[in-house]
Parts: sequence; structure tokens; C-alpha cells
Amino acid sequence: MSENRTELSQLGEFGLIDHINSKFSISQPSTIKGIGDDAAIIEGGSDSLLISTDMLMEGVHFNLSYMPLPHLGYKAVAVNVSDIAAMNATPTQIVISIGISNRFSLEAVDALFEGIHAACKNYNVDLVGGDTTSSVSGLVISITVLGRASKNEVVQRSGAKANDIICVTGDLGAAYLGLQVLEREKEVFLSNPDVQPDLEQYEYLVGRQLKPEARMDIVHELRERKCIPTSMIDISDGLASELFHLGKQSGVGVKIFEDKVPIDHMTFETAIEFKLDPITCALHGGEDYELLFTINPADYDKIKNHPDIHFIGHMHPDANQNVMVTKQQTVIPLTAQGWNHFKSE
Ligand code: ADP
Ligand code: MG
Repeated sequence: MSENRTELSQLGEFGLIDHINSKFSISQPSTIKGIGDDAAIIEGGSDSLLISTDMLMEGVHFNLSYMPLPHLGYKAVAVNVSDIAAMNATPTQIVISIGISNRFSLEAVDALFEGIHAACKNYNVDLVGGDTTSSVSGLVISITVLGRASKNEVVQRSGAKANDIICVTGDLGAAYLGLQVLEREKEVFLSNPDVQPDLEQYEYLVGRQLKPEARMDIVHELRERKCIPTSMIDISDGLASELFHLGKQSGVGVKIFEDKVPIDHMTFETAIEFKLDPITCALHGGEDYELLFTINPADYDKIKNHPDIHFIGHMHPDANQNVMVTKQQTVIPLTAQGWNHFKSE
């Protein structure tokens, strides 16, 4: 340890990960891809094995005043499965570690695991282990997921080529607005407990925040259509930030069109209500857990009629060009705000 003190906020989350990464090198021949993708890739005979981990912390990732425990359990599994989906692979097993205080009853733990059980069933993964410890500072859930895919099907962030078509599934920004709605209702409730939360008209947005699904359906459908993306990532931090990851790791730039970015009408209207720009919510909102991927233009016909895949632009030969063409046809630079855990707001 030197005497210097460097604030983590100076590095940001990605800077910190790069810093940790720089201190390690790979020595096992079976490690095909280490730090830097949605999951690590391990040699597994005829297949590749995938491994990824994600932790949810009370007060950072969820608030128990509006997050029911079964939903939390489901979400903790879904966000892990999403990272396996982002490698174009199939999840197989999970291990779960929980840090829990005696403020929780057995019934509460049962409720949490009810959601975990439902997710295991839905994604067809086995819970095969974990660790249990007491916590003095809120609930912590850490899940590690294992997955598998045949070698030629595994998709990394780094494979995009210039002119590849950028595709995104579902719609974006809804989970972020769902969170805004929940936060607002919590404030209303705290100031006047007699007022019951009015969430009905925001059901879609709140559902996107509390009950995200990993897009394994898309992974299966791409497989059926014999379409292997050239690069892929799941949208956990926001479209712009994830586009930067694909562009940077592939050594190309990005050009997207604002009018092609899928935004649900509820997201649009609620953004306006909150005096937010809908496209900003879609670009930087995060937690959508949709898939962002690129395809070779030759594969376009295979998926062009898919109802839930949207074509929002293409990779640019110039790695320094990361732009969005607005609805007014102005070309503006993309910025990657995303969720940066240590950056001061
Ligand atoms: P994702 O959003 O897909 O979960 P992250 O941004 O969390 O990905 O992580 C990016 C990469 O950095 C992944 O390969 C992840 O395994 C790695 N990573 C994150 N935190 C650490 C850490 N503390 N030590 C080692 N690797 C890490
Ligand atoms: Mg990811």
C-alpha cells in the first residue's frame, strides 16, 4: 500500500474493473476468455462453458419497501441468466450466496426462495449450491451462473465488424421509469400513509422494474433461424453504455437512429410526465435486460420479420465515430452515462 489515496470515484466502475484486470494474467490453457465480457468462457470439451456472477445489494439495487421478496428472488436469477443469454448460450446451474440479518423470518426467506424456485423452473437451471451468512447491513444476494453452448455459437462483445447491423430486442427505458414511479409512490406514502399507491396505470413500467426476464426466448429463436450474432451484450446499464462496450471491444464505431430506438408508449408518456426526455431514458436508463447484438448484413433476411427485434443502426468503420442521428436528422455524439456505481453524480 502506498501513502497515496485515490478515490474510487476517480476511476468509476469500469475503470476499477480495468485496474483489477491489469494486475492479473491468465495461466490456465482452459481459460478462453477472462474478465471483460458478460460471462467468462472456459474450455469444455466439444462445448464451451460460460460462467458469470451478479450481486444484488439492499439499498443499492433494490428497496424492500416496494420490492416483494419473491420478485427479488426471481430478478436475482434472471439478471444472471441474462448474462449467459448475452453469450448466446444456455444456462444450466446456479449457486446462491445470501447475507441475511435476523430482521428476516423463515417466512421471508421462503418468499425469497419461492421466486428463485420459479426462475429456476422457468429458465430450466438447477440450484446446486451456495453459501449462507449473517449480514449486519441489509440483504445481499450473490448468484453465480453456469452455462453451455457449442463452440461456434458462443458470441463475445468483440466480434462486430464495420457495417454490421445493430439489433435490439423488446423496448427500452421502461424499467427506469418503473423505478421512478415506485420511488415517487414511496415518497407519497411516507408523507401520508393513508394514500394508497396508484400504480395500476403504470403496471407495465413497474413490472419491467420488478419482474425482468432474461431473453432466452431470443437466444432460442436466433438458433432456430441459424443466425449467429457477430457480437452481443445484455442491456443492464443502458443502451448507450452497452453500445460503447461493443464498439470499443470490436474496434469499430457506432451509428444509431433515434427514430429506430424502441420505446413503449407508456414509457414515452410517463417520461414526459416526469419531465424527462424519452430517448434519454432509453439510452441511459438501464435494467431493461434486453439483448443488444450485431449481425452480418447477409443474415438480415433471417430475422427481419421477427416482431420483437428492432434494427437501430450499424457499426461504423471509424472507431471514433459514436453517433446518433436524431429525429431532426442532426448527428450528435453518443455519451455513455449508464450506471456508474462509484462516479459522483
Ligand atoms: P455485466 O454488466 O455484464 O454484469 P460488468 O460490467 O459487471 O458486466 O462486468 C464486466 C466484466 O468485469 C465481467 O467480465 C466481469 O466478470 C468483470 N468483473 C466485474 N467486477 C469484477 C471484480 N471485482 N473482479 C474481477 N472481475 C470483475
Ligand atoms: Mg451483461
